[in-house]
Amino acid sequence: MSKINTLHDVYVEQLKDLYSAETQLIKALPKMAKAATAPDLAQGFEDHLEQTKGHAARLEEIFTGLDEKPTGKKCKAMEGLIKEGAEAIEENASPAAKDALLIAAAQRVEHYEIAGYGTVKTYANLMGEEKAARLLEQTLQEEVETDEKLTEAAESINVEAEEGEEAVATSTSRHR
Ligand code: FE
Ligand code: FE
Repeated sequence: MSKINTLHDVYVEQLKDLYSAETQLIKALPKMAKAATAPDLAQGFEDHLEQTKGHAARLEEIFTGLDEKPTGKKCKAMEGLIKEGAEAIEENASPAAKDALLIAAAQRVEHYEIAGYGTVKTYANLMGEEKAARLLEQTLQEEVETDEKLTEAAESINVEAEEGEEAVATSTSRHR
């Protein structure tokens, strides 16, 4: 690994970390969608999967502009966050409680991404990389919007979880 000296070097390292995070998420989000019970939540994960592919593509575009490769770094934080998501998927939980667990895991992911994109956007602005800064801002906004949607979902879904297994069982039997 070459020595990191300049802000540009740090920028490239951080972008690689984000690229690894996004590509790991592209594999994880379909599993989150499959595990979700509420149709809106499942659709939300599907929608964010498509956005996430766009995030990876924007990073690729930035790397092309820098004449660098996006590969070669594994984001260990995202690996851990995805493991927590996998735990949520495997948990023995009522449907509403499971959805609440999935939302909890997903919001941690979004906040992590928001932190990462805020950082690299600041670097891009400092270095006068205007086009990259715009692309990073677009992704940052989508992460923020996704986090907000997850909060909205939590506000309806978590209420059901609070009512517990019994209430969930009753509402399920009502549909029979
Ligand atoms: Fe993303
Ligand atoms: Fe995201």
